[in-house]
Amino acid sequence: MIWSLQGLTALVTSSTRGIGCAIVEELVGLEASVHTCSRNENELDKCLVDWKSLGFEVFGSICDVSVGVERKKLTENVSSLFDSKLNIFINNVGVYLWKPTVEFTAEEFSTLTNTNFESASYLCQFSHPLDLKAPGAGSVVFISSMAAVISINLGGSFYSAAKGALNQLTKTLACEWPKDNIRTNCVAPAFIRTPLTKAKKKCLKSVISRTPLGRIGEPKEVSSLVAFLCLSVACYIAGRIICVDGGVT
Ligand code: NAP
Repeated sequence: MIWSLQGLTALVTSSTRGIGCAIVEELVGLEASVHTCSRNENELDKCLVDWKSLGFEVFGSICDVSVGVERKKLTENVSSLFDSKLNIFINNVGVYLWKPTVEFTAEEFSTLTNTNFESASYLCQFSHPLDLKAPGAGSVVFISSMAAVISINLGGSFYSAAKGALNQLTKTLACEWPKDNIRTNCVAPAFIRTPLTKAKKKCLKSVISRTPLGRIGEPKEVSSLVAFLCLSVACYIAGRIICVDGGVT
């Protein structure tokens, strides 16, 4: 049973593609009950049907996590679905804007910081009262980025800063929330093959040349670590920012 999440409930933000999709599949594969969200109803419905055909029961609702009232509604949905008991919160959502710092508009800055940092802060605050009941089982995992650990000089200054804020939030909550049986950790991927990186094909060559393993990563190589951090075997790991980066950092 130490390699199982049976009986535990999880919220994973934004899982219709990429790393989030792999995280959902990893958690349900370990028998957790999972709720997820995204902004696009058609894509979400398609994922829920696909997962059902694989034998996975996943719940989902529409939510733009950058909007306060929608975040609140998401937590209410989760609370009622799981009978006020949420053991695992994975903050996967993230958007990247590739451009030089001086070209950012105020609106773009606000979308970036709101989606990547503010939403994570509020969602874990809302989730906290739901997180507590199973001793040792409460787990928060933020998905940050290698760009918050080293400078990658690819035009992502505000993205890196927002992810850096997640790293610090990880360390602070890891000290504040053990009294409530909640561990907090963070996974910081490098380039992973998802729609987010597809748009940046030109950079991939230079990234691969700097990667000791000589390739970019796959979503499954991130999701397996996320799931491990939620297991009881990881119960002495807290406050860590763990890079999944093929050795780059
Ligand atoms: P992705 O392929 O672009 O998928 C992003 C997911 O987030 C989609 O399901 C998208 O669905 C959803 N989403 C975007 N904005 C949203 C919003 N405001 N509200 C709700 N859902 C929203 O991204 P990914 O590559 O899997 O990245 C996942 C996480 O890993 C992010 O935090 C990213 O920063 C981090 N990361 C990725 C890489 C990489 O190389 N891929 C590297 C380092 C860190 P909708 O658009 O339908 O809402």
